[in-house]
Amino acid sequence: TYCFANEGILETAKAQIHPMDIGLIRGYGIFDFLRTQEYNPMFLQDYLDRFTRSAEKTHLYLPYSKEDLRQIILELIDKNDLKEGGIRMVLTGGVSENHFSPTKGSLFIFNEALDFPAQQKYEQGVKLLSVEHVRAIADIKTTNYAFPVWHSAQWKAAGADDVLYHWNGIVSESSRSNIFVIKDGKVSTPDNHILHGITRKRTLELVPDTAIREISFPEVLAADELFITSTTKKILPITKIDDHIIGNGKVGPKTQQLIKEFAAMEVAVLS
Ligand code: PLP
Repeated sequence: TYCFANEGILETAKAQIHPMDIGLIRGYGIFDFLRTQEYNPMFLQDYLDRFTRSAEKTHLYLPYSKEDLRQIILELIDKNDLKEGGIRMVLTGGVSENHFSPTKGSLFIFNEALDFPAQQKYEQGVKLLSVEHVRAIADIKTTNYAFPVWHSAQWKAAGADDVLYHWNGIVSESSRSNIFVIKDGKVSTPDNHILHGITRKRTLELVPDTAIREISFPEVLAADELFITSTTKKILPITKIDDHIIGNGKVGPKTQQLIKEFAAMEVAVLS
């Protein structure tokens, strides 16, 4: 496969990064991750907007415009014959004399195999492990996922698929997805201490009267239905938090309906 590395397209195996890049030694960098469907980079504009916003907020120099990035991505889809796959853009802090201040970093754009959850998980729902944590600078897509990676050992040991982060009794999100709560037919989702997901945005378009508000941990446990959203999971039902069963323990009708509506929206985008 081919990737884009700094100035041009080359074989992915030949891409290099300096060992002193502060992306590596300080965890200072940003990224974004989108996917293709039928060779189309789904909702590309949203991902380009978020990627450039992350660069601005972290004071990282991005030497390409959104239009340049779009052209590079389209070229990679073509060269790699990427019918259905993930595309990751990464911008690092670069190599600096004091090993601390950002300079001109490295930009990489490469593709990854997509690994959607098994169909059975959409039919039966999955379990989240609640963890007391709140992501720092949550609305910037930084490359620093040290806590979630560290927590992954805990959720695996608990037989869960991921985490539900809460802090001071308020829930935020999962390690790489946003959360939605349904109670008495009313959909709600948090807005603070989250990464504003593109899938969350699309889901809000499907349910425009969603309440965007603070949600307490007890509210989540008392929900009729729960689901998480992300680029690689789309809309995934949650039927258990720790040992607590959500609703009647089955994937609820509203979640089922939204999974269908999400798929229909993707088809509409493609046609
Ligand atoms: N929250 C976090 C912390 C994430 O890392 C991600 C995506 O990776 C999301 C939410 C979901 O965002 P999206 O729907 O854009 O994939």
